[in-house]
Amino acid sequence: MTDILSRYQTVSQAIERARLNANRRPGSIDLLAVSKTKPAEQLRSLYSAGQRDFGENYLQEALDKIEQLADLDICWHFIGPIQSNKTRPIAEHFHWVQSVDRVKIAQRLSGQRPSHLPPLNICIQVNISQEASKSGCLPSELPNILQQCAELPNIRLRGLMAIPKQSDTDHSAFADMRALLTQAQQNYPNMDTLSMGMSNDMDHAIAQGATMIRIGTALFGARN
Ligand SMILES: *Cc1c(COP(=O)(O)O)cnc(C)c1O
Repeated sequence: MTDILSRYQTVSQAIERARLNANRRPGSIDLLAVSKTKPAEQLRSLYSAGQRDFGENYLQEALDKIEQLADLDICWHFIGPIQSNKTRPIAEHFHWVQSVDRVKIAQRLSGQRPSHLPPLNICIQVNISQEASKSGCLPSELPNILQQCAELPNIRLRGLMAIPKQSDTDHSAFADMRALLTQAQQNYPNMDTLSMGMSNDMDHAIAQGATMIRIGTALFGARN
């Protein structure tokens, strides 16, 4: 078995173990394979082993892979920072955008979503560790952003996404994210996604209710 397929098996088993430890339902945690910087052939290998959701951070690189892998039934997630002048190709080529952090971006994505496609699934990215250098809205901005996004016709508000800071050693940010989602669900009960947890902290994220974990290194190996 190739490295990538054995890593896929290892990661899948680790998710299953964490799910059981957290007493969570079977099928309640989705794996997003984060494939930034990795060649299309590696995505194809993972696809052939059953993986369907792939996440990309860099638009041009992603568009190249989407074209190279157009024969596959991949669900593409955009997870990188978004410049407002780049929203059109994102609205045209992706199924999910997890890194929406301001209303203007959501409005543009909704306006530019082609009418023959279903609504674009979006998550609002929250800068949960409140780091000056990071993308994401502040928790205090969330109610207003949710309210305005919920009214847009061509997007479907699915949930929240976060990248807690590395030094969050007690992983309290995951619990804070879970509380924000629970609060949001009171007004928007269709929100069903909590995207958090990466290669180094997925167990903690699953214990705190992550419904989607985003794994790069543990699947594809280190990035250059
Ligand atoms: C790169 C990246 C990941 C994956 O990180 P790993 O530590 O390699 O698993 C997850 N989410 C986002 C938003 C990323 O940019």
